[in-house]
Amino acid sequence: MGSEFKVVRGGRLLDVSTRSAIHRDLLIEEGKIIEIDLPGMSVPDGAAEVNAKGMMLMPGLINAHTHGHGSLGKGLGDRWTLEHLLHAGPWINGHRTLEDKRLSTKLNAAEMVLKGCTATYDLYFEFPAPTLEGMHAVAMGYADVGVRSTIAPMMADHTLYTAIPELLAVFPDSAQKQLSQIRAAPAREILKACAALLIDWPYDLRRTKLALAPTIPLHCSDEFLIGCRDLALEYEVGLHMHLSESRIQAVSGLERYGKTLTAYLDDVGMLSPRFTGAHCVWLDDDDVKRLADNGCSVAHNPGSNLRLGNGIAPARRMLADGVNVGIGTDGSQCADHQNMFEAMRLASFVSRVVTPDTEGWLETAEVIAMATRGSAEALGFGSSIGRLEPGARADIVFLDLTNINFVPLNDPVNQIVHTEDSSAVHSVMVDGDFILENRQFTTIDYEKLCRDAESASERLLAANAETRAFAESLDTYVSKFCVGLAHRPYHIHRWAGEQPAVRSVEESSLKQ
Ligand SMILES: [Zn+2]
Repeated sequence: MGSEFKVVRGGRLLDVSTRSAIHRDLLIEEGKIIEIDLPGMSVPDGAAEVNAKGMMLMPGLINAHTHGHGSLGKGLGDRWTLEHLLHAGPWINGHRTLEDKRLSTKLNAAEMVLKGCTATYDLYFEFPAPTLEGMHAVAMGYADVGVRSTIAPMMADHTLYTAIPELLAVFPDSAQKQLSQIRAAPAREILKACAALLIDWPYDLRRTKLALAPTIPLHCSDEFLIGCRDLALEYEVGLHMHLSESRIQAVSGLERYGKTLTAYLDDVGMLSPRFTGAHCVWLDDDDVKRLADNGCSVAHNPGSNLRLGNGIAPARRMLADGVNVGIGTDGSQCADHQNMFEAMRLASFVSRVVTPDTEGWLETAEVIAMATRGSAEALGFGSSIGRLEPGARADIVFLDLTNINFVPLNDPVNQIVHTEDSSAVHSVMVDGDFILENRQFTTIDYEKLCRDAESASERLLAANAETRAFAESLDTYVSKFCVGLAHRPYHIHRWAGEQPAVRSVEESSLKQ
């Protein structure tokens, strides 16, 4: 047994508040940072030395919203709305074995680590209901690589077609028949599976937490939502939902509930500090206030929102009102990657197109705080991660300062958000142990992972070919439906008088 002490010497520690990278040594005891001081600080005898010369040390980025099942689906879609993506779900995710579930999660985790991310909130989808073995495969996929995770089975007791019957109605009769036969498990059965998971979750909660994800309000009955709410309360776990992601959802929600989706969730008692809403694009001022008043978190996924044409979430407004906001990539089936540096850059950029007033734009320092501390809070890890300070876990990304992205080093905060593309990620530590060292994994055989992923993907695409052909034959109907519904009025009252650009964007999208 070696010493439980480790000292990281010679590196430059990112200091967001002063926008600098200052020379500091870090002392780590059993995976926790216990002291940070000037170079050459004295440390206990036998402390193992880590040389960080030429490196900038920053907290591991935290991905507030992903889907482990999505990693095998990167690059499969192009001009897809969210509804196209959901419609494609059966062929993207079908025929997965337990080993495939572990593999796709592992692939997701590996990409995150290569791109400087050390923890994630994963909404993993199993159909018609989550299984014990499936969620354990997901937990093990993250553990294999060494990524911290909060794993939430993604569930619904309705399918896309029963959730939005108007969509089903646009398909030819034969297709309607076939699609209406797809059935999610009944609420009671899914809740039973959740309870079984919660009662006996064998993992170290400092590394692998469990949460519940009733995926989309419209896809969940009241009975199911309330059941999830009560279980989350009883077992003190998080709740994560896709909230007002697409305009279709916002319009359909208004028609179904007679109020916004957020107002509806508030009425059902879903909103609380354990709640994370993903996307939150189509919120009005009252919705943002509801989330703030209930101490909720939001996972802001600007890349996915752009890719699926969903729009831009009011992140500045949320922060101003006191909502905790983290940043996520979303799954690779709709983000096409797990690059948190790009997610940060997009968060910064999209905040700039909604208003000409620079006061309304996100500052790069805020963006880093969202992708670290904000996400940590959403995942349920509080202040134990997302910061490099005494008392925090030693989840550290070592950025190579000789990488061209940091030459010259003018402002590390701006450069991390606006320049870095993950190519400077040299090494990554979780709990003080390297999981990536000099761009090589210490935890997994990366070449084997690639081979396994290629062969699984080939096998699964063949197994799902018929389902795919059927779904794709109906894509034009989905498109027509989406365009039709997008023309229905959905007036949201946001930033009255303050941010005219937002309003004109919304108005022009109505006219098209
Ligand atoms: Zn998602």
